[in-house]
Amino acid sequence: MGMTITEKILAKAAGKEEVLPGDNIWVNANVLMTHDVCGPGTIGVFKREFGEDAKVWDKDSVIIIPDHYIFTEDEKCHRNVDALSVFVKEQGLTYFYEPGTDTYSGVCHVTLPEKGHCRPGEVLFGTDSHTCTHGALGEFSTGIGNTDAGFVMGTGKLLIKVPESIKFIIDGKLSANVSAKDIILKIIGDVGVDGATYCAMEFAGSTIDALSIEERMTICNMAIEAGGKSGIIAADAKTIDYVQSKTDKPFECFESDGDAKYRAVYNYRAEDLKPVVAMPYSPDNVKPVSEVTDSKIDRSYIGSCTGGKIVDFIMAAKVLSGNKVKVPTFIVPATVEVETALVTEMVDGKTLRAIFEDAGCEPIAPPSCAACLGGPLDTFGRCNTTEICISTTNRNFPGRMGSKDSQTILASPLTAAASALTGYITAYEC
Ligand code: SF4
Repeated sequence: MGMTITEKILAKAAGKEEVLPGDNIWVNANVLMTHDVCGPGTIGVFKREFGEDAKVWDKDSVIIIPDHYIFTEDEKCHRNVDALSVFVKEQGLTYFYEPGTDTYSGVCHVTLPEKGHCRPGEVLFGTDSHTCTHGALGEFSTGIGNTDAGFVMGTGKLLIKVPESIKFIIDGKLSANVSAKDIILKIIGDVGVDGATYCAMEFAGSTIDALSIEERMTICNMAIEAGGKSGIIAADAKTIDYVQSKTDKPFECFESDGDAKYRAVYNYRAEDLKPVVAMPYSPDNVKPVSEVTDSKIDRSYIGSCTGGKIVDFIMAAKVLSGNKVKVPTFIVPATVEVETALVTEMVDGKTLRAIFEDAGCEPIAPPSCAACLGGPLDTFGRCNTTEICISTTNRNFPGRMGSKDSQTILASPLTAAASALTGYITAYEC
C-alpha cells in the first residue's frame, strides 16, 4: 500500500522500507531546537541521565535559540539565558543565537528556516509546541517535552509512534482579504481543538501551492491548535528554491503516494473562504468576521511566529498605509531579519516602518516572542488588565497574552490591521 509523506520521512529516519500508523519506531533526529523557556530543563534532564561531563550527540545539530523572555528586567529570565550560554560554551555548540550579540535572531520558528536549519525530508524536534511550523518545508517537525529532548540531546534518537494522517485539500483562488491564517482558523473551527489529536495534518491543493513559504508556515504552525502531532506540506520548486537560498546541505523531497491511506480527507474551495477570527477562549471558537463586527477591541497586536513574518507585515502595511489607528497597535517583528526588512520592503512607495509610524502604531519592538506568551509584567504589548486584544498570534486560552482578565481574538494580519483602524473587529475592505 502507498505511504503518506509523513510515513515516508519517518521510515527513512528509522532506516526502514515502510512504516504504518501506530508503529512505534526509533527515529534519528536531524535537528533538536530548544529555547530559553525549556532549554535549562532539557539540559538538566540531559545531565541527570547522561552525566555531568556528557557531550551532546552532535554539536552542529543542537540549535539554541533564546527568544521568549529577552527584553525584560526580570532576573529569573536572564538566568535562563545565562544557563544556555554556559552550556553552549561547555559543549562547543555551533549554533547559538545569543541575546545581546550579533548572532541574536528572535523567534525560534522563524529563525530556524531563515538560518537554513529546516530541510525537506528531515526530522526536526523542538521543545516548543509550535515546532510543527517547519512541516511547511516538507519535513517531519514536532514539539517534544524536556524529558524527550534531554534524551535526543544525548543520543540523537527518539522513540515515536507513527501518526495517522489527515489530508486537507484547498483548491482555488483566495479573495484579497483572506489569507493563510483564515484557512487554518477555518480548519481548526471545523475539526475542533482535538480534531486531529496525534495526527499529521497534511495540506495540499492549488491554494496551498500558490502560498509563499512564510504563509505555509502560518498554516503548519497552528496544526497543534487542532491537536496535531505535525503539519506538513510537500516540498515544491518554491520550497527547494527557498531552502537552497539558505543552506548548501543536501536534502531529499518526499510526497504522498496516490493510494496512501488517510484517517479523513477534507476538501475546501478557496472561493468559499471568508475572513474569520477565533474568539476567546479557544482557537476553535471561530466566527466569520461578518458576524462579530459589533465586538469592540482595545488593542491590536501584530507579531509572533504565526503573524510576525515579513509577509504578515506587508499585509498589515497595505491596510494601514495612509490611515490612522484608533487603538494601541503593537508591531513585533519575529526576527532581526524581519526587522531589517521593515526598512527595505515598500508598500505604496513607503517603507513598512514608515507606514506603521505614520499610522500611529506604538514604537516598533525589538524581535522576540514578546506578549504572545504573556511573559513578565514589563513585556512589550503584554495585556496586564482587562484588554481585549485582536492578535495575529496562535493561541487564545485565558491569560495567554498576560492577565487572565484579558481576552485574545485570533486573526489574520489583514483583519488585525483593519480592526486597528476602527476599534472593532473588521475585515479588510479590498
Ligand atoms: S511567538 Fe508565541 S507561539 Fe511562537 S514560539 Fe514565541 S511564544 Fe511560542
